[in-house]
Amino acid sequence: MNILVVNCGSSTVKYQLFRMEDEDRYEVVARGIVERIGIPGSRLEHRSALDTFVEDRPVPNHRVALELVIAALTSGKTRVLSGVGEIDAVGHRVVHGGEKFTGSVLITDEVLEAIRACADLAPLHNPPNILGIEACQELIPGVPQVAVFDTAFHGTLPEYAYIYAIPYEYYEKYRIRRYGFHGTSHRYVAERAAKMMGRPLAELRLITCHMGSGVSFAAILHGKSIDTSMGFTPLEGLVMGTRCGDIDPAIVFFLMEKEGLSAKEVEEILNKKSGVLGISGISSDTRDIEDAAPHNHRARLTLDIIAYRAKKYIGAYYAILGGLDGLVFTAGIGENSPYIRKSICSGLEHLGILIDDERNTVRRKEALISRDDSRVQVMVIPTNEELVIARDTWRIARGMR
Ligand code: AMP
Repeated sequence: MNILVVNCGSSTVKYQLFRMEDEDRYEVVARGIVERIGIPGSRLEHRSALDTFVEDRPVPNHRVALELVIAALTSGKTRVLSGVGEIDAVGHRVVHGGEKFTGSVLITDEVLEAIRACADLAPLHNPPNILGIEACQELIPGVPQVAVFDTAFHGTLPEYAYIYAIPYEYYEKYRIRRYGFHGTSHRYVAERAAKMMGRPLAELRLITCHMGSGVSFAAILHGKSIDTSMGFTPLEGLVMGTRCGDIDPAIVFFLMEKEGLSAKEVEEILNKKSGVLGISGISSDTRDIEDAAPHNHRARLTLDIIAYRAKKYIGAYYAILGGLDGLVFTAGIGENSPYIRKSICSGLEHLGILIDDERNTVRRKEALISRDDSRVQVMVIPTNEELVIARDTWRIARGMR
């Protein structure tokens, strides 16, 4: 089965074409990204086993982007399909599924309507996801299209973990609550961790640390997410590239008053100018911060804050899980930064977390990085959200054949 996995952002389309025999036997036959959609400098970067090319050309919208993707898959030197008819199903990453979607679903008119209704909750993310779905329905007609939601894995949070301590009527009126994000990634690495540990997921207590430009941790008890650090939006929680994570909400009103800022302007500051970039004043990329740390106080401070806040979440999740079997690091920072992994884990020996410095040098591959005498197994597991989307799509589409 040929499954196209599509991830539409506001100005990007990322995609992978999977050739799947079954859930565990698959090959990625092509992948790529269309960048800067609707803005000057747009380009397609496409790779298949046969060839690679980059095409700089205007891409005014997501539909044109997907036309280019299909052309790259079905013609020229990178041709891996004889025509669009060879695509059997399409899997879409959808950021927000609200309270309605706690698993992946076949996209019907009603489902698309419900995804539109969630756009209020994710105004930056859901609209491009919807554009991608609509374009694929037109360009690849008559095949199952499946939605895989970033929020779905956290649908198991108990009520006391997702209700905020604000007047309850706002939950009833606007569905203001903790949703959590990166669910596809947390789910994938939790499943891999169980495999690596050689134990059933259903008996494990795990903390999964997704640390990329966005950062979220999840407490996973017996395979179910019971708490996660991102909340109503991806702004809550740990220190991120440009997002502030947890702050005292009173800071918002203080800033509005002192600086004469509008709500939108403060939102922009907290989303785009805070986090690693805001503290360091250097960059949102932790690589630059690690390079600058030996001679720059604010760079060192940034790394200290990242580690300190991560420890606090690990301690909190250890408490609610009633102990811990596995701790997983994933995404850009989690997979690549021995320094940040080490600085998070050091001082947590009393929780049974003992890092092995030699094993911790690993980058971008699955590995155990704790010592043999560590009570908690600490792992690096590269995330693979596309594979989860392809597998869910395969499962749903297969049933329709
Ligand atoms: P992601 O959002 O998962 O693509 O992660 C992107 C982030 O990962 C970048 O902004 C960097 O902060 C971080 N990152 C990627 N590679 C490295 C590395 N080799 N060392 C430290 N941080 C890295």
